[in-house]
Amino acid sequence: MEDWNTRRERIVKILSASEPVSLEDLCQELRIFDKRIILDDLHHIALTLKKKDSKLVMVPPTCQRCGFIFKGLKKPKMPSRCPKCKNERISSPLFQIK
Ligand SMILES: [Zn+2]
Repeated sequence: MEDWNTRRERIVKILSASEPVSLEDLCQELRIFDKRIILDDLHHIALTLKKKDSKLVMVPPTCQRCGFIFKGLKKPKMPSRCPKCKNERISSPLFQIK
């Protein structure tokens, strides 16, 4: 297991591409399948970037049934259930560093 510092550097590199990358793709790319680890990394990356001249942009997850958008999330997050229709099929958030 590579150390978290190296992993976060890789995430920053991946997310600096011209297109936003989904949480799933990020897991695939890093071969880490525990989304909580990646989300925790993203949270730390967002804090670090604030001090620099860039930021982590998140395209919020959306409910695939009623279209509810999880706006205003303070932290990178993968909700498990829609608060509106209780559906559990939620689209993955996308991330990009700008
Ligand atoms: Zn819904």
